[in-house]
Amino acid sequence: MSTFRREIHTDVLVVGSGGAALRAVLEADGAGAEVLVVIKGEFRKSGATFHSVAEVGAFNVPDAAGDPLDSPEVFLQDILTAGQGMADPRLAGILANEAEDALHYLEQYGVHFERREDEDRYLTYRACFSSKSRSHVIQDHFKPIVKALGTEASRRGIRVMDRLMIVDLIAQDGQCLGAVALDHNGDTVIIRAKSTILTTGGASQLFAKNLYPSDITGDGYAMAYRAGAHLVNMEFMQAGVSVITPFINLFGNYLWDARPNLTDRNGQPFVEDYLPEGLSLDAVIAQKERHFPFSSSDISRYIEISIQKAINDGRGTDEGGVYMDFIGRDFTQILADKDRSIARMWPLTYQWYQERGVDLYKDKIQITCSAHAINGGLRIDADAQSNLKGLFAAGEVAAGPHGADRLGGNMSVTCQVFGGRAGRAAAERAQRLADHPPLSKDVAEHLHPAAFSGQGKHSLETLRQDLQKAANRYLLILRDETGLRQFLRVCRQVRQALLEDTCVETAAQKVAALELSNMIQVGELMATAALARPESRGSHYREDHPESDARFSRNVILDRNHPDGHFIARLADL
Ligand SMILES: Cc1cc2nc3c(=O)[nH]c(=O)nc-3n(C[C@H](O)[C@H](O)[C@H](O)COP(=O)(O)OP(=O)(O)OC[C@H]3O[C@@H](n4cnc5c(N)ncnc54)[C@H](O)[C@@H]3O)c2cc1C
Repeated sequence: MSTFRREIHTDVLVVGSGGAALRAVLEADGAGAEVLVVIKGEFRKSGATFHSVAEVGAFNVPDAAGDPLDSPEVFLQDILTAGQGMADPRLAGILANEAEDALHYLEQYGVHFERREDEDRYLTYRACFSSKSRSHVIQDHFKPIVKALGTEASRRGIRVMDRLMIVDLIAQDGQCLGAVALDHNGDTVIIRAKSTILTTGGASQLFAKNLYPSDITGDGYAMAYRAGAHLVNMEFMQAGVSVITPFINLFGNYLWDARPNLTDRNGQPFVEDYLPEGLSLDAVIAQKERHFPFSSSDISRYIEISIQKAINDGRGTDEGGVYMDFIGRDFTQILADKDRSIARMWPLTYQWYQERGVDLYKDKIQITCSAHAINGGLRIDADAQSNLKGLFAAGEVAAGPHGADRLGGNMSVTCQVFGGRAGRAAAERAQRLADHPPLSKDVAEHLHPAAFSGQGKHSLETLRQDLQKAANRYLLILRDETGLRQFLRVCRQVRQALLEDTCVETAAQKVAALELSNMIQVGELMATAALARPESRGSHYREDHPESDARFSRNVILDRNHPDGHFIARLADL
């Protein structure tokens, strides 16, 4: 493998090209900074924002289009209620107040928000955990955002380097001074930046069953932690029911309103076998309609718990799912009531499935529990800056505007609001700094990607699958102390095999090894946070502590410089 090394200088480095990245890029450029965009995959074709495994994308705006009683204040209250003490009220307030501007910004670049058929009003629906119908609808998930903002970035001639993986941040004296990257030839590239914006998305690939594209391996969390940035709320990993066969798709929460049939590999109903006594299936499904992500906060949790337990008990299909269908359901009444979200969304959903060969009135599909977005990430301030000066973070990699549960439709708007703030503040900092601070000898000597032995009997793919399977089993829906500790053991074994006994020869293998290394680290961080929270709260469910406990109404903050690796505080008080 080549060891050639080159150095690039820029004002603002933006890592990624998803929704948060592109907004940050345009804002930093608009503020007069020189911007460099670096992406592991292909520009305008990578990340969760671009990934179409949902018929629509929900984008929350409290503009009263769906409910005259909605407002930024009601929106904020919804965020804080769902967050259960774990969201940062200041950041949540910013999100609520700036959401409407974010929608108009996107429209200005040509993003189309659906309108109601009968009136010239935005189409909205009531998404997860919301008290109001405020999710505005973009077709084909968020691809239109990437297309629109990406086209504008290209039109402005902003410098882009793709197929370049950022592997580590350059940290010195509490500041971020750029990043180390690995290109597709295996060469090291040092990028000196006065401001660095991490917009690397989530870490869903850590799990065997997930809804995310293959490039979303948690690199941002892992490298930020290594550099000394604080991470918070990492235990709040969202998961939810998704379609796995015949294609992968998010199973929209409004579909539960039609009371689907759930059966195991032998065609037998199974959910009731796992319900506590006295709880009816109908009551559980009625709650499930309120939100897609698994949440320990209400009885809907028994849907995911029963699916996961049925699979663990060997009642799942060969593909790792169970069956779902609407056979025998009468949709006439359901669809006549236009106040029901399912009635508004059904035409889009039905068509989306039909185009992919599924007739939702007649066909059985397979569903399972899949990893989704993380509500936690880098702790940021109102400028989207982390505790490391010059390191900004926005989108899914950043924490604060969300808590234990997150309103569906809030991540896309978070990407815009905090991507914009990060871009402006990063440009302002870069313009304030006369020059790139010199690197100390010690830091300069360590600017190279981690090394692997390069020889051995393990394949990277097998190790990745071992880690993903263990994460699915012990870290996704059903957590307890024994399982979390077992997961940490698997992390150690996989790391040891990766470092000492795995074939890593080509540049592509090195990228895969670095990704796996990051996935292991994120898994360990998530498990550490989950162990530090012996209670259940929102998306974090502990089978050994199934209720929430007021004593743990504080945030777990991961900090590699702390003697325990983490400390506990209230975000609201920091
Ligand atoms: C099926 C599905 C449905 C969803 N539905 C909704 C919804 O309706 N509403 C909502 O608000 N949210 C939704 N979400 C969540 C939302 O789509 C994501 O959280 C959001 O798009 C993340 O955007 P981002 O800009 O933070 O990151 P991404 O769009 O994931 O982009 C990350 C970028 O970083 C790059 N990158 C990563 N690591 C590196 C590295 N080491 N070096 C260089 N580049 C790197 C990637 O290649 C990519 O370009 C959904 C997600 C999925 C998967």
